[in-house]
Amino acid sequence: MTALQSEIERRGKRVFELVDKYREPLFSKAGFYQRLMTLSMHDEQFKTQLFRFVAVLPSLRRSTEIVQHLEQYFSDTDNGFHPLVGIGVGVARLVPWISAPILRWNVSETARQFIAGRNPDEVIATLRKRRAQKIGFTVDVLGEAVVSEAEANEYAARYLDLLDKLARETRNWTDPPGKNAELFPVVNLSVKVSALYSQMNPAAPADAIAHLGTKLRPLLRRARELGAFINFDMESYALKNTTLELFKTILTEEEFRDWPHAGIVIQAYLRDAERDLCDLIEWGRARSTRFTVRLVKGAYWDYETMKSGQNGSHSPVFLQKPESDANFEGLTRVLFENESVVTAAFGSHNVRSIAHAQAVADELGIDPSRFEFQLLYGMAGPIKRALVEMSYRVREYCPIGELLPGMAYLVRRLLENTSNEGFLRAKFAENVPAKELLRDPRELIKPNGASRTQSSSPAVAENQHSENGTSLQATPADIFKNAPLVSFIYKDNQEKMQSALREVRERFGGKYPLVIGGEKVWTDELTPSVNPSAPNEIVGYGSEAGIPEAERAVKAARAAFGKWSRTPFEERARLLERAADILERRRYELSAVEVFEVGKPWNEADADIREAIDFCRFYAHEIRRLGRPKLTQQVPGEESYHHYWPRGVAFVIAPWNFPIAILCGMASAAVVTGNTVIMKPSEQSIICGAMLMQVFEEAGVPSGVLNFLSGHGSVIGAHLVDHKDVDLIAFTGSREVGLRIWQSAGVTRPGQRELKRVICEMGGKNAMIVDTDADLDETITYSIYSAFGYQGQKCSALSRLILLEENYYRVIERLILAAASLRVGNPEEPGIMVGPVIDEAAYRRILEYIEIGKKEATLAYQAKEVPPQGYFIPPTIFTDVKPNMRIAREEIFGPVLSVIKARDLDEAITIANSTDYALTGGFFSRSPANIERVKAQLEAGNVYINRSCTGAIVGRHPFGGFKMSGSGTKAGGEDYLLHFLVPRVVTENTSRLGLVPEKTPEYREEFLWPKPQR
Ligand SMILES: Cc1cc2nc3c(=O)[nH]c(=O)nc-3n(C[C@H](O)[C@H](O)[C@H](O)COP(=O)(O)OP(=O)(O)OC[C@H]3O[C@@H](n4cnc5c(N)ncnc54)[C@H](O)[C@@H]3O)c2cc1C
Repeated sequence: MTALQSEIERRGKRVFELVDKYREPLFSKAGFYQRLMTLSMHDEQFKTQLFRFVAVLPSLRRSTEIVQHLEQYFSDTDNGFHPLVGIGVGVARLVPWISAPILRWNVSETARQFIAGRNPDEVIATLRKRRAQKIGFTVDVLGEAVVSEAEANEYAARYLDLLDKLARETRNWTDPPGKNAELFPVVNLSVKVSALYSQMNPAAPADAIAHLGTKLRPLLRRARELGAFINFDMESYALKNTTLELFKTILTEEEFRDWPHAGIVIQAYLRDAERDLCDLIEWGRARSTRFTVRLVKGAYWDYETMKSGQNGSHSPVFLQKPESDANFEGLTRVLFENESVVTAAFGSHNVRSIAHAQAVADELGIDPSRFEFQLLYGMAGPIKRALVEMSYRVREYCPIGELLPGMAYLVRRLLENTSNEGFLRAKFAENVPAKELLRDPRELIKPNGASRTQSSSPAVAENQHSENGTSLQATPADIFKNAPLVSFIYKDNQEKMQSALREVRERFGGKYPLVIGGEKVWTDELTPSVNPSAPNEIVGYGSEAGIPEAERAVKAARAAFGKWSRTPFEERARLLERAADILERRRYELSAVEVFEVGKPWNEADADIREAIDFCRFYAHEIRRLGRPKLTQQVPGEESYHHYWPRGVAFVIAPWNFPIAILCGMASAAVVTGNTVIMKPSEQSIICGAMLMQVFEEAGVPSGVLNFLSGHGSVIGAHLVDHKDVDLIAFTGSREVGLRIWQSAGVTRPGQRELKRVICEMGGKNAMIVDTDADLDETITYSIYSAFGYQGQKCSALSRLILLEENYYRVIERLILAAASLRVGNPEEPGIMVGPVIDEAAYRRILEYIEIGKKEATLAYQAKEVPPQGYFIPPTIFTDVKPNMRIAREEIFGPVLSVIKARDLDEAITIANSTDYALTGGFFSRSPANIERVKAQLEAGNVYINRSCTGAIVGRHPFGGFKMSGSGTKAGGEDYLLHFLVPRVVTENTSRLGLVPEKTPEYREEFLWPKPQR
């Protein structure tokens, strides 16, 4: 054993002895809470339900509501608690006015255990008690998620007020150890930067720093005057780089450059942590003033792993708990080695981590009064006491706030206390021996090992299995992996996007040809494509096809069909995969083109390219599943194989709002199924279309298989829809055009071989319902994004928000404030949420709808300032909207939201369904029964619960609607390719004179003649 390890063990054992000496319940209060924690640790399902129930409880106002939720949450849990809950529910049902308040009281008390006070006065009383125990404090203000600037301003004012009160009340307090006191001001405030600016966007650190700077400077100034300390807490990974940058920027300013009483948090569970810490230290040395780092492991592990899991990106956090522990120790040493410039604070309840810090300090000769341990209020009391007795500095992190905003914090603490991997559970609930708890974490890291949590997940295991072999049984969603979104958290990626924007701008005014039968075709007419943010800028010109070019394209496609339809599906799948690789390579460039040509904000443009990549890879997987003829039934003496043929020539007509993804999705589906294609982009997004054509050319699409025809829908579009040699039309666009195509395709023309198949995806008038118990932080954030993201120009966008009477005013108030805080502007700039609408016609049409809305309903909010140039429509909200009004029935396709009031959920569902459309719909609720009901009854092709109603992901959320929203097809779904195919069955009698082959294979080679050369 090394000397360090034996010193850690010695110190750790001492802490444990003292903990045992002052044995008290681990958590400050026992009873109800202890029982629930014990049950939660032994039953994951119960734990999930319990934490969900705890989260919703403060928002339930009536006793009957509480009882209903109790029943809904726990009636299905199958454990020892069930009878208890059963009795509880029974009693509660009989006397809800007694039981519900008791329950609420119990949960409030539980929350209060972790919250030091509801207001400054309460908190100061708590701090006084701690002072008597020689424990210092840092105060944190709990609050709802900040969704508007009004809320952010309120927060800033609360911080300032708190600072003054704390300074006043603690004027005569002295430093407990009385040594090196100048490093540790008594008043210490922990600040969350996300509470001070509602529009923080990782892609736009400069914007965040500018806004946050104006809020923080007065606070820092006041802290300095009062001799107080300000700590910048660290939140989710998405905000990490901005928070670090902000800290360094402000504290380098002349005014704060020589002020030593500011600190920041480093989260050891992050893979970046060491680099960030070294960078901070280097900055601190250059600044030549001390600062503090609170080293923690990190509070958002579950959130970060979920987020990266959903995006399919590399997790920013370590996946094995001992890796975080070991990193914590490594960083402890870095901090101590740089003690001359940085003061260390260790935020941990883990005795091993604490003992390690003590031992390293000792080894390096650092006086114990020059660093401190910080622990959370309401947790690990005995450890705090032990540390005080050992003469270490201890500071308690004291949240202050009301119960409702405190719930998110409470749930985080509950999760931490019951976590399988947590130290507190191991020590206090499972009595793991000291020796075990004090082991060197480096010994516990498994080489190439995933964490318990990761490897035990069936979904992950399944994915790993299927990635290795393409099991034909697996559903495509299982074997297909989405491309991750680009993370604009990273400076690198921000710079790549900036330089792509510069390069694309340099190519403005370029000319793009048609491509017919593999040849570039130029016509006399050139159509300009303009930048909707600055209509005097021409992004490029597309050659305009007329009838002769359309005829030529049909001939080329027809001629290519014979060979392409007999090309093995594997070859066609590989073409799509090559296209996906090229899209990936040109990702930033193509995103930049979208920013200019259709006004997409950065992240929306990137999501569009990601979707195009996904479509290519997904349909490649799909054709491998569908391509081989499949035996229908195993019978002796006969074999019947079911398989598919392509339909013929496909005409693809795409919209401008997803200018590469939708065009690519429809075209790639048609190509991979063996059809030949004429691809027509929207008149507003010709350049994006031309770019996609380049991608397929580079991927090696054979001549005539994919033809690119830009031009007027009313000319070439109508001509080709009616053409006898076009067998299939794949259309996404407006209802008006869609219905015309549907009708026209029903007419059989002389010489026509096939009944035309139409794949038709049209608009929506999408509704989201907000239940009385909905989480309003989530509701506001997602509703605002769904309604105003990409200016409301997604067919999936929210346009009717249906609020239950009981919640109406509370939601409206926050909704309007949130809308008023949105960043409207030219999306070339990072972090813009609302850009221009697509063109002048759309601009005028939307303004007309706003005028109609003003007459029909109440204009509750309209942004006052939008850029003077370009087609910018101010985000607009109407209230008092009735379901029969035009603004509630007609698709507006712009940043206009109608809010409708409903008496109850029955009426809300009726209103939601009372539209011609059925594309997307959503529901915000925490009532399991109401959620189930809406899942069953909402008429929409895509129903989303407690999230935005936009942003469908290929393979995960197959997308498309019914009623007047479409013909019921699902882009990115496993039945999509079937619409591009005709099924065929080939049956053969395989017996000869009574001789019957033993078994017929389930799959066979494709029916191709002549057989392809291998
Ligand atoms: C005073 C104080 C202030 C804090 N401030 C912040 C802050 O500003 N920002 C912040 O994010 N956190 C902060 N925390 C940290 C956080 O809230 C947790 O309290 C802390 O991570 C628990 O660590 P531990 O050392 O006490 O316990 P341990 O039980 O030793 O560690 C638990 C931690 O290990 C990590 N972990 C769990 N499972 C895994 C896994 N499978 N793989 C890898 N790592 C895993 C997680 O970070 C988890 O919280 C603060 C903590 C304290 C005490």
